[in-house]
Amino acid sequence: MKNKNEAVVVFSGGQDSTTCLLWALKRYRKVYAVSFDYGQRHVQELSCAKKIAEKYNVEHKILDMTLLNQLAPNSLTRNDIVVDESVPSNGLPNSFVDGRNLLFLSFVAVYAKQLGITDIITGVSQSDFSGYPDCRDIFIKSLNTTLNLAMDYEFDIITPLMWIDKMETWKLADELGGLEVVRDMTLTCYNGIMGEGCGNCPACKLRKKGYDLYMASKM
Ligand code: ZN
Repeated sequence: MKNKNEAVVVFSGGQDSTTCLLWALKRYRKVYAVSFDYGQRHVQELSCAKKIAEKYNVEHKILDMTLLNQLAPNSLTRNDIVVDESVPSNGLPNSFVDGRNLLFLSFVAVYAKQLGITDIITGVSQSDFSGYPDCRDIFIKSLNTTLNLAMDYEFDIITPLMWIDKMETWKLADELGGLEVVRDMTLTCYNGIMGEGCGNCPACKLRKKGYDLYMASKM
């Protein structure tokens, strides 16, 4: 019988994964959160994740994935590469980290199986995926199948944000009673500024646009 009382959340401490954590806390009796240290510029990301996990009494594991940065240095891990979300006609934005979701989800799956857990929650979204191939639904479905075959196990990779945009993600956080937590305690900004962020980087702009739209819709 499948264990539907527990889940593991892939948890970066940003808006999306925190919303997923809140989502999971409503649905499962016990929730585990896994974060990755991949040499990201902003270690604050990990301390945000830690504080939020503590707030909700969630068992939190930080796995060392600095290997990823050895293989593929990129604008999220290197200070000397400026984050540029523009998508070249034949490529990917330089904030894309090759293999990131593939590796993160694979490691989380290994961990989940050790705990006897099948449900893995991740905040990827195809709606504003910025051209990242590993945020698409087809990738998640494909990886789910691969992980099941790899470990002879029935994982369910669950993606509550797959078809919703940033505005709807704010709405969801609000419905889950976590609007303030997401607004004040998470880090999305590429310049490492918590909460509202720098206001200028692509991540801040996307986040703020969604927030303003949602606030306007409530009036
Ligand atoms: Zn910013």
